[in-house]
Amino acid sequence: EAFVSNVAQAKTLNAFLVETPDHALAAADAADAARAAGETLKPLAGVPIGMKDLFCTRGVPATAGSLILEGFTPPYESTVSGKLWAAGAGMLGKLNMDQFAMGSSNETSAFGNVISPWRRNDGGNAALTPGGSSGGSSAAIAARLCPAATGTDTGGSIRQPAAFTGIAGIKPTYGRCSRWGVVAFASSLDQAGPMARDVRDCAIMLENMAGFDPKDATSLQLDVPQWEAGLSGDLKGKRIGIPKEYRVDNMPAEIDALWQQGIAWLKDAGAEIVEVSLPHTKYALPAYYIIAPAEASSNLARYDGVRYGLRDLPEGAGLQDMYAATRAAGFGPEVKRRIMIGTYVLSAGFYDAYFTQASKIRTLIARDFDRAWESCDLLLTPTAPSAAFALGDKSADPLAMYLNDVFTVPSSLAGLPAMSVPGGVDAGGLPLGLQIIGKALDEQGVLNAGLALE
Ligand code: GLN
Repeated sequence: EAFVSNVAQAKTLNAFLVETPDHALAAADAADAARAAGETLKPLAGVPIGMKDLFCTRGVPATAGSLILEGFTPPYESTVSGKLWAAGAGMLGKLNMDQFAMGSSNETSAFGNVISPWRRNDGGNAALTPGGSSGGSSAAIAARLCPAATGTDTGGSIRQPAAFTGIAGIKPTYGRCSRWGVVAFASSLDQAGPMARDVRDCAIMLENMAGFDPKDATSLQLDVPQWEAGLSGDLKGKRIGIPKEYRVDNMPAEIDALWQQGIAWLKDAGAEIVEVSLPHTKYALPAYYIIAPAEASSNLARYDGVRYGLRDLPEGAGLQDMYAATRAAGFGPEVKRRIMIGTYVLSAGFYDAYFTQASKIRTLIARDFDRAWESCDLLLTPTAPSAAFALGDKSADPLAMYLNDVFTVPSSLAGLPAMSVPGGVDAGGLPLGLQIIGKALDEQGVLNAGLALE
């Protein structure tokens, strides 16, 4: 009830697009009844969570932050949300996000940007971004409107908002969580994952989100490990790699200091620190911003005014006119930019020069990580090159916005598990995140190093 009432009162953050108090309260009632009957409680009995609006939940509108899905109410439940309800959780509402998860600041949402609950303490009172694209999730958790939320991460959308708001979030290995019922952005990169106040809560959430699903062809046919039971902050015998290429030009001194602090903490926990090289790192961002838009342009072809949500059918118009009018009215500027980039790099004349090259780079990046694993077990890096920036600061400059993803996209391209945990604050008291990247399927190692940093 406290969470339901906080959500109802915290409208200025614009974190929730839809509130579903009855769903959350029903889960709490079910937990109470189970407790009264002396039954064993489910792992998330009565826990009220927030659901990123990219997930379809039966009977509740889903917009993916876009006008083109306005009026769409899914008649089905995403696999991940269904698993969370089966584990006893309830939904407080659907969380605001960058439109189709394209963005790093939440400013591409068609329903207004989310505002971070944080403010700088060194002058200026500018409203800050909660990060993106899972910015509704990060703001809601940081403002204590929900104890945990779902996020999705294609190139950093769980980790960067977690870093910007002082919370934890993990993108598991590609294929751990089913993509079924999650609105598609870039299918070879999209992964669901949890965001929560701390590492343990992330482990509990992930255990109840992951698992094989025959409805997703890229879902991994593996049992879900008991990550919470396996948590240990003892890193004796673990080798932590520090990738030298992540020491990017113009890295702010406070980000470097955060990184050094993280190294010291992991040493204290018993880890050995080794320098490693990931030589193709500088190509990750350009490769990502070819591959992700290419896949998006294909995935978003389905919004045609016929199948979902918005239909703009001008008087006397034909089918082509309806497609054009619907897509012109329904997609925001960033989505249109990505569709145009994507169709361009996939077009007959440019496919080899762009998409094929980017795909080759993706392989080289994955091989860089494979080679690094010969000398270390995990990698430690900053999550983002800065603390949260002011709303409006980068929205006019797409390239500046894309650069914010420099530390998160390489592990996305390689499909590796990666987590952000709070690591410190900048000069203005704003949270900074540390990122742990692990080998494929080593979520346990990632979570354990996260715990050691907490
Ligand atoms: N900021 C990146 C992008 O705009 C990543 C988004 C995401 O992970 N969904 O594509």
